[in-house]
Amino acid sequence: MGLGSTASPGNVVAVLRARGPLTRQQLQEHLGLSRATLVERLDTLARHRLVAPVGHRASSGGRPAQLLAADQSSRVAVVGSIGASLVSVGVADLRGTVLAEQSDRVPLGHSPDHVLPWMLDTARRQLDALGRAGDLAAAGIAVPGQIDQETGVSIMPPTMAAWRDQPLRDMFADGLSVGVELENDANALAYGEYLAAGRPSSTVLGVAVGSGIGAGVVIAGRPHRGATGCAGEIGHIRIEDRDERCGCGRRGCIAALASGTALVRRLRGDGVRALPDVVRRVVAGEAHAVSLATEAGRLLGTVLATVVTILNPNLVRVGGEIGALPPFLAGLAETLGHQAHEVAARGLDVGPAVLAERAQLVGMAGLAAEAVLAPGAIDRLVVG
Ligand SMILES: [Zn+2]
Repeated sequence: MGLGSTASPGNVVAVLRARGPLTRQQLQEHLGLSRATLVERLDTLARHRLVAPVGHRASSGGRPAQLLAADQSSRVAVVGSIGASLVSVGVADLRGTVLAEQSDRVPLGHSPDHVLPWMLDTARRQLDALGRAGDLAAAGIAVPGQIDQETGVSIMPPTMAAWRDQPLRDMFADGLSVGVELENDANALAYGEYLAAGRPSSTVLGVAVGSGIGAGVVIAGRPHRGATGCAGEIGHIRIEDRDERCGCGRRGCIAALASGTALVRRLRGDGVRALPDVVRRVVAGEAHAVSLATEAGRLLGTVLATVVTILNPNLVRVGGEIGALPPFLAGLAETLGHQAHEVAARGLDVGPAVLAERAQLVGMAGLAAEAVLAPGAIDRLVVG
């Protein structure tokens, strides 16, 4: 951009987000705007609480110059995740700081009739308690399965049949009166971990293991959804010579062997009834539960070895109630190390989601921020 640039207010915020904090002088150089135009842009953006001073740059002579940054804490998003047995809702600012959150265990086979009003009521109460209802700018909801991004309808897995074909985006948009981002839960986890890792330029693979199994990928700073939104749906990859029945109706899927649902079934003889029982037993170091969790991790590692060889990521982050269990993760890392391509495995950083159970909510806050702070969205806002 040279002199006479038409850099819009949205472009100014984009430069500050990518390179800030910057002084007025530096901004002028980056954008090629005249001083008068830049001042006008910055006035507009400050009025809309999109740019704020963040201190001064020390200088050798003269007055220290004021540093400006994109203001990502003036607005908040409602963030949530809907799983087969766990539902979370919270409020986060656009930097990804979670300001309030609440999780609720829900019975398998739950439906939007009960869960949706709970999520909306909880979000409204959280906003009021924080005194931030007036700052609400977006919502971001993570769900399992594929999402039709055109219609905002989620194609939920069989375990959540009551949510199938529901106009999820409209339901939340009507309830909260803001734009709504929907994302696959494993993509949300991967995006949260990508933000936590400081937005690396490289590929991040996120793996979520709870009732089911999913993977998500962030490539070049964006969740990779694939042609029809099912990139990373590794849960129903078939394992040779196995015929355990899967919830999807087929047999021998990795989800039928290594998910939380599979572990509940295999530990039923020990008195296990639900996912939290599995977690408790593994954490307590009960031998049978630990050995089954390790074996499940190893099996998933064989599938991930292929994924890692294709994507060659430098970060693999594993989350979800089962994925977070150390024996599961150890088994997974072990087979991944042995079976992925030697060069892809070398130096590969495999570990638990550093954001733990918050990874999806942080990821959704980040995706909501991308939508709200996109140059086009800001330009529309300041014109309106
Ligand atoms: Zn299956």
